[in-house]
Amino acid sequence: MSGTGPLVVVVSAMSKVTDALVAVCRGIREGDDVSEALGALRSRHMDAVDGLAGNGPDAGADALLSDDEARALRDRIAGRFDEVAALAADRTALPDAARDDAILSAGEDLSAAMVAAAIRATGRPATWVDPRRLVRTDGRHGKAVPQHEAMRQQCALHLLPVVADGTVAVVGGFVGANEEGATTTLGRGGGDYTAALLGGAVDAQVVHIWTDVTGILSGDPRVVDGPRLLPEIGFEEAVELAYFGAKVIHPGAAVEAVTRRVPLRIRSTFEPGHDGTLVRQDLRGAAEIAAVAAKTGVILLKVRTRAWSMPYGFLARVFDVLGRHRTPVDLVAASHWTTAFTLDEAEELEAVVAELSEFAEVEVVRDLATVTVVGHGL
Ligand code: ASP
Ligand code: MG
Repeated sequence: MSGTGPLVVVVSAMSKVTDALVAVCRGIREGDDVSEALGALRSRHMDAVDGLAGNGPDAGADALLSDDEARALRDRIAGRFDEVAALAADRTALPDAARDDAILSAGEDLSAAMVAAAIRATGRPATWVDPRRLVRTDGRHGKAVPQHEAMRQQCALHLLPVVADGTVAVVGGFVGANEEGATTTLGRGGGDYTAALLGGAVDAQVVHIWTDVTGILSGDPRVVDGPRLLPEIGFEEAVELAYFGAKVIHPGAAVEAVTRRVPLRIRSTFEPGHDGTLVRQDLRGAAEIAAVAAKTGVILLKVRTRAWSMPYGFLARVFDVLGRHRTPVDLVAASHWTTAFTLDEAEELEAVVAELSEFAEVEVVRDLATVTVVGHGL
């Protein structure tokens, strides 16, 4: 942990736990027996506590949990999986989407509690802070939209006072709550998004995104030979790269950082001494290519007006449909009768096409890829 000022740590669920919980949610919806899957998840969390307590397969950590801490964590894990089992047993207790979020949030809730305990074991005060008290969202389960003003107020009340005396606040990413306090989630990979959101809400000096790569590279190492590590990159390039396929930054996190002017530093957990890549507000490159990104599984939608000429407001209608279905588009090209744009494979695609077909001819081309060159003055 770097920095001497107040510190908020945002954590993800343990590796693959969210995937497993997603499968549990699907199983419940389909009426399957999910007890075995829940048992496996419960054991994984218990094993992690055993490791932190110095008697599990992962033993060897230098700072170990006290017996009390270990017991409290085990109780919490057991209690949480009992709750999930109860939700599975009574499928009418919550609407499907709300139940999914209540279950998915278990991954982050439990990892955050464990990380808080592990930090305390090093001698530094740390406490779990419930993201439901900080990350206020709308009610769209599974893909909730953060409410910035409310978040700012919630953080002033429930986050800043916690860290003011040097206590580390540990918050599960990805999880929030709507106005009524019901659990929501921000969409897959949303942990980094939470970090950027909280950073913006408390005017953080910097948000460090700890990931598994050294930083932002000038190209994907699986595709491009010997890409360079970019020590610094401008916000705009970072946003472009995030949207056009560089998996390093969550697009929402990048946009958040731009609008709230919080610098992001992308760093590798495996090389904590390495500075990684700083994403900076004030960096404006000259006519320079910063990076290349590629994305597969892209869909092209061609929308052609049925009228003889482009009627006034046609494009506005098209984009209104996309907007209402929250379908972001990447590349757009317009000609006299046709507009074409690319988008990612989306659940909403069918509904979007149906609505567009009410006033236009729509053609869908699948399985495309985009290659994006990001830089200035190109
Ligand atoms: N645990 C969530 C997911 O796997 C959020 C995250 O990891 O960023 O999608
Ligand atoms: Mg993640």
